[in-house]
Amino acid sequence: MAYETVIGLEIHVQLSTKSKAFCADEVRFGADPNTQISAISLGHPGTLPRLNRQQLDHAIRLALALDSEVNLRNNFDRKNYFYADLPKGYQITQDARPVCVGGRIPITVGEEVKYVRIHHVHMEEDAGKSMHDSDDPYSYIDLNRAGTPLLEIVTEPDLRSAEEVDALMTAMRQLVRYLGISDGNMQEGSMRCDCNVSIRPMGADYFGNRCEIKNLNSMRYARKAIAYEVERQKRIVEAGGTVAQQTLNFDPATGVTSPLRSKEDAHDYRYFPDPDLPPVVLQQAEVDEIKASLPALPWVLKEELVAKYALSEYNANLLTAEPEPARYFLQLAEATPTYKAAANLVINKLLPWTKEEGKNLAEFPLSPQQLAGFIQLIEDGKVSNTIAYQELFPAMVAQPDQEAEALATANNWLQSDDADELSAWVDAAIAAFPDKVKAYQNGKKGLIGLFMGEVMKQSKGKADPKQANKLLRERL
Ligand code: ADP
Ligand code: MG
Repeated sequence: MAYETVIGLEIHVQLSTKSKAFCADEVRFGADPNTQISAISLGHPGTLPRLNRQQLDHAIRLALALDSEVNLRNNFDRKNYFYADLPKGYQITQDARPVCVGGRIPITVGEEVKYVRIHHVHMEEDAGKSMHDSDDPYSYIDLNRAGTPLLEIVTEPDLRSAEEVDALMTAMRQLVRYLGISDGNMQEGSMRCDCNVSIRPMGADYFGNRCEIKNLNSMRYARKAIAYEVERQKRIVEAGGTVAQQTLNFDPATGVTSPLRSKEDAHDYRYFPDPDLPPVVLQQAEVDEIKASLPALPWVLKEELVAKYALSEYNANLLTAEPEPARYFLQLAEATPTYKAAANLVINKLLPWTKEEGKNLAEFPLSPQQLAGFIQLIEDGKVSNTIAYQELFPAMVAQPDQEAEALATANNWLQSDDADELSAWVDAAIAAFPDKVKAYQNGKKGLIGLFMGEVMKQSKGKADPKQANKLLRERL
């Protein structure tokens, strides 16, 4: 029997705020253990939490981008459980009335765009970190992370494969970076997800029992965990059994999932409204103001690059993967009418420059106008593509106060349109290979490349390739 995989995600995004969700402790990755803590994040008696406005604004930004509905009145609940890295004995989260409900996000799998529905987004705080493996038999607790602001995004069970999960996580990472609310870095734990996985017979209109795989912090692990889980569930169903609803842990070392707890001993968190935090009451005007400040969204930008600037899907994807290149391209496109050349320049020259220099595009020494001048020289046939990219471009970067044309003139890089000069180069190229001339005349037309190469060598790249090609064919 053929089965269909059904997946829903609970994605945790760590927000890039300066301070924690309910106190002023700093939030920064990689600090020494227990250096970013205070009486509040340690949960001392008598301390009171206060909401970080930035967390709320970030949540609303995400909601608006996802076409979610903002709950103008929402509130915080306590989720009660005991664990060593949770000093208060409860996590502050949102249960009954989260900050936003509904929404959707487009994902691209292969050629197809699919909308994944969002169930809701809620605000919460992170717990601390327990380290069990560093110094057996001891465990260590680092409370720096306790109280770090998170958004949890819960999707509907709309995903059908690990590829779609990958596409969704990629889209979400891209979105939070565009919105400037998180760095979306999975390695540092800024984004992680719980995968709810079930299977059903192909074509069925009901869902099977699901298992929840906790805390996957890399896409590679998520793929492996899903693949393992689907096979495990198939074996159970084929043997006539029922999949037990469970919470699972995935061990990257073995590639195997194992039960953390089953539904029967599922936690009763005894949620109730946190009496220390008043409900959040928003005015529609505040939401509208945030809406007006939203940047262009990645999928809208991508569409625009294809539709308005006639770029290929491939180049549009490359340019919009991160917010900066897309914004830079749009600036450049204001300065030059040749969009395709502008896209190639950003992809093949400017992005490698940022990698090599470890800088961002805003620091690139040439202005969009200078780059437009560079592109125009190529377009006008004044410098060859090769010379432009290999010689002129690095020279411009090294001397950013010089204009493209002046530099090309000074270095003798301008392509020659002098007919006598071209004629001499072509003759020299033909004279260099007398036996190949015979072969060409006997039908080996591919040899034209060899002669072209010689013309370019003779002219040090200055011959106009179109003219040279034409003249060569005539003479040959
Ligand atoms: P609970 O309240 O028990 O946690 P939810 O309805 O909130 O359950 O679902 C949690 C997550 O599980 C959501 O991401 C949802 O899309 C996903 N989910 C629900 N049912 C299934 C299913 N049968 N198979 C796969 N995922 C599911
Ligand atoms: Mg849930």
